[in-house]
Amino acid sequence: MAEIAERDSERCGLCGSAVPMDVRVPNPLAPTIDHVIPISRGGGDTRTNVQLAHFRCNSVKGAREIDRIVPAG
Ligand SMILES: [Zn+2]
Repeated sequence: MAEIAERDSERCGLCGSAVPMDVRVPNPLAPTIDHVIPISRGGGDTRTNVQLAHFRCNSVKGAREIDRIVPAG
């Protein structure tokens, strides 16, 4: 998923802040892949439906939308 991080200029699609690519989950700033339309709502695992997001930001959204969180990198 490094290409997603590169495409998104290593910025979180949810809060807009830079995402440090050298940290890993469960660090709250770790890069993860967020599904714009959650899989649970029919969204696909396609490049157009994913964006880079902090683990923290993705977790907040995930709790709300019951999405699964995929670590990036
Ligand atoms: Zn964020």
